[in-house]
Amino acid sequence: MIESREQFSRQILAFGAEGQAAIMNTKIGIVGLGGMGSCVVQMLSHLGIQEFMLLDDDRVEKSNLNRLVGATREDVINKTLKVEVAQRVIKSINPEAKITSLGNLRTAEAIEVLSTFPDVIFGCVDNDSARMILTDLAAAYKKTLVDCATEIDLKGDNGISFGGRVVVAQPGDFCLWCANQIDPQIANEELESEQEKSFRRHHGYGLGAEVVAPAVMSLNGVIAGLAVTEFIMLITGMRKPERMLTYKGTRGIVVATKDVKKPGCLVCDSLIGKGDKAGLKRYLRSNLPKDLPE
Ligand SMILES: [Zn+2]
Repeated sequence: MIESREQFSRQILAFGAEGQAAIMNTKIGIVGLGGMGSCVVQMLSHLGIQEFMLLDDDRVEKSNLNRLVGATREDVINKTLKVEVAQRVIKSINPEAKITSLGNLRTAEAIEVLSTFPDVIFGCVDNDSARMILTDLAAAYKKTLVDCATEIDLKGDNGISFGGRVVVAQPGDFCLWCANQIDPQIANEELESEQEKSFRRHHGYGLGAEVVAPAVMSLNGVIAGLAVTEFIMLITGMRKPERMLTYKGTRGIVVATKDVKKPGCLVCDSLIGKGDKAGLKRYLRSNLPKDLPE
């Protein structure tokens, strides 16, 4: 801490030495290291996080270079794993950081490590099945889940709309179901067809989406910035984190939700602290190819 005092001196002015120490003692899991996850990992590295668990099985493609923090042309040629790009970014800022990297979320190893290691999990995925799994896992093992999402809709009622949102799901307080941020039908369809789609999906997004959606880095930056700021509020206690912040890009505003936990929410009421009894093994992917095709 003493040797890092100068590196974080401007933050210590904001959070105090105790606040900075609390941040540095927080272990972080990041699920999804694409456009959003790469922004989050960069900000958390600068913030002083010392221990990371990174999870993504996707590799860098040329179409990622408009937004993947740290990725280069060489990474496209070498088909570098996105978690390796993230590791490089972390190490360039903080060479002493401890980093564990894993591939697919739906493996026993990933569930095991996520359920034990991190204090806070950042969900930076692009599909509802991963959000559903992370929601169950965070509740069952009492982790705070900070879930990030952006959307650019070209066919809205009033023309183009764009924005995003951050949900801070604290155990027993609020979750992605309470926030109406999971479509159960879509989530279950994604889970059912997982095996058939595994190879094809590898060439899209690592954690699941079939559709190639529009993506702009500045939007990821806005949402990542909101997410990391709410994380700072959570850890330093400067104020309570908001349960959900929605960036309405078309109007240029950020709105905090007034929603609270839904009465009778199965996750917030019944799943909290269930641990291994929560049955997360049902989400494991069978016949996952050991070495995904190039
Ligand atoms: Zn809930």
